[in-house]
Amino acid sequence: MNRILVALDVDSAPQAINLATALRGAVGGFKIGKQLFTAEGPSIVRAIAERGDRVFLDLKFHDIPNTVAGAIASAVTIGAWMVNVHAAGGRKMMAAAAAAAATAASRLGRERPVVLAVTVLTSLDEAQLRETGVAGPVLDHVVHLARLAQDCGLDGVVASPREITAIRTACGPRFLIVTPGIRPATGALVNDDQSRTMTPAGAVAAGASYLVIGRPITTAEDPRAAAVHIAAHL
Ligand code: C5P
Repeated sequence: MNRILVALDVDSAPQAINLATALRGAVGGFKIGKQLFTAEGPSIVRAIAERGDRVFLDLKFHDIPNTVAGAIASAVTIGAWMVNVHAAGGRKMMAAAAAAAATAASRLGRERPVVLAVTVLTSLDEAQLRETGVAGPVLDHVVHLARLAQDCGLDGVVASPREITAIRTACGPRFLIVTPGIRPATGALVNDDQSRTMTPAGAVAAGASYLVIGRPITTAEDPRAAAVHIAAHL
């Protein structure tokens, strides 16, 4: 299994298609987030999925259960392989997301998409989390929400490298952990805006299931060579 999911953080469909074409077969899938989706809409998801590539639709849904269920069903319709919601949306919302994924997939005769929870945004520190009314260490809240997501039938979580070990211990070997903040040990981009990073091999050793990697691959002179190099070191 190729664990690398490449973040297509570009603002036009041609750029996204060019990257996906260059990387076909060398990575495990592509992540489409709010930047590309807001610019190009569902057609870019369909375009990449219809070529047979896996699409992680990273829109982090957070709304009332009925609305999230509808959004998940739409994500299945356009061909998403992996989707996510905010765990802060609560038990009923997460359960509705899991149920909608299964129902929509069976209606369309497709495989059920992977449904993940975002626990605590890694941009939040303890002080900011406290301002939102949650006291205590960030990691405790992350693990608490990961357990809740698992109890609601979700397949896994998106987590920063430093959270992998605690979540793996709490949620067991089969729970998926998808990890951004990955930086190769050498080369360009060792120091950019990602501060709490881990190498690809380090993240897998810690228990990550999939690695979301953006700029170390997408801004490389030869993105495919960069992806092949990283995959070879996992
Ligand atoms: O370019 P880079 O490898 O930093 O891209 C990482 C991707 O993962 C980006 O799409 C970013 O938005 C996303 N992400 C992140 N940190 C999080 C959650 C998501 O970097 N905590």
